[in-house]
Amino acid sequence: MSSNPPNLRPDLARAQVTQTARPGQPTIGMVSLGCPKALVDSERILTRLRAEGYGISPDYAGADAVIVNTCGFLDSAKAESLEAIGEALKENGKVLVTGCLGAEPEYITGVHPKVLAVTGPHQYEQVLDAVHAAVPPDPHPFMNLMPASGVKLTPRHYSYLKISEGCNHKCKFCIIPDMRGRLASRPAHAVLREAEKLVENGVKELLVISQDTSAYGVDRKHDSHPWKGREVRSHITDLARELGQFGAWVRLHYVYPYPHVRDLIPLMADGLVLPYLDIPFQHAHPDTLKRMARPAAAARTLDEIAAWRAICPELTLRSTFIVGYPGETEAEFETLLDWLDEAQLDRVGCFQYENVDGARSNDLPDHVPDEVKQERWERFMEKSQAISEAKLAAKVGQRMEVIVDLVEDDAATCRTRADAPEIDGNLFIDEDHAALSPGDIVTVEVDEASEYDLWGRLVR
Ligand code: SF4
Repeated sequence: MSSNPPNLRPDLARAQVTQTARPGQPTIGMVSLGCPKALVDSERILTRLRAEGYGISPDYAGADAVIVNTCGFLDSAKAESLEAIGEALKENGKVLVTGCLGAEPEYITGVHPKVLAVTGPHQYEQVLDAVHAAVPPDPHPFMNLMPASGVKLTPRHYSYLKISEGCNHKCKFCIIPDMRGRLASRPAHAVLREAEKLVENGVKELLVISQDTSAYGVDRKHDSHPWKGREVRSHITDLARELGQFGAWVRLHYVYPYPHVRDLIPLMADGLVLPYLDIPFQHAHPDTLKRMARPAAAARTLDEIAAWRAICPELTLRSTFIVGYPGETEAEFETLLDWLDEAQLDRVGCFQYENVDGARSNDLPDHVPDEVKQERWERFMEKSQAISEAKLAAKVGQRMEVIVDLVEDDAATCRTRADAPEIDGNLFIDEDHAALSPGDIVTVEVDEASEYDLWGRLVR
């Protein structure tokens, strides 16, 4: 059993580019590592390059240079980034590095001195300058019309929508604020314009992401901007309400349980936003949370969850947790297990604590031995799997809407409103599915369930 199953690690998922270039076009390859936020950065870089006349190569051989968008969140992600850079150097030779690990250029050039340039996270202009220097752009602008929705790495029917960058918190295990800076929210009308364009171009599901979605607009003092004849505040409640007007599914990720989250729940009950909250609780024991320096550490989360469910019983809750955090006692861990029993979360990911270079938690006393971390992780997963299995079994016989992600000969892979792409489960339709297409939203009746996935048949 691996300690952190890949299906729970969107931060380690690799993205593939599928556009092809025409003959003679200057062409760039992209390897996008890291979390959905990094994927949005990759999409933005590719959109700009495409607009400037570059082709996008799906492989190393067809590219004049390769951009590696790196992740530096955990030491294991750093190692994977270095490995990807090494592979790109070996296969292509002309490599530009960007992303979170780019905040530590010497770390990269120390191992790979031949990389052509290193830029940090969201330094789009610098990445483009580096590309121009390595591979000059195509001088024929008529050949290079940019697709209206930009170049997207995610499937066409869903899109991540980044509403802010950076974070004002200082969780001790996290170096994101050092790498990405303090919270910087996009103005509400800019987010809405992007969302509207995505939906016009066929996107059926918007995945709202940031480091701290509930804090959206705090840095802008929740300023207002005109949008469609009315003023919209840069506040998550207002933004979510407006996003709900486009008719696409809207899914909120990385929401912290601040009191105003309660205002989002009626939007879910009214069907404007999916009844789904991705809240990284990380732990349940107040002392552990305090040692982590987590935001909203003092929140009475079980009471909050009960209040949310009273307003919207359909609500799906997903979360991630860290076990084996420095100083975590057996009693603290058991509090977490008991909390899980009470909270009955639908979807849960669990990480074993690891030191990350530069994180303040490295210096905490009483690090937990690896075998204890592993043992706690197994106990945690056993409990969360049992909860997930029971929750999914209760769905057998129900009718629900699903979105189709992929259609193959043997089955169509879909998701219910309770499943985010890449991190949650699937619903499979293995009969009468040939006429379905990715992005279709259809009704199914669930006829089978496992620990994480469902099977169903189409209701006509
Ligand atoms: S809230 Fe904590 S874990 Fe999340 S990005 Fe900010 S500092 Fe890191």
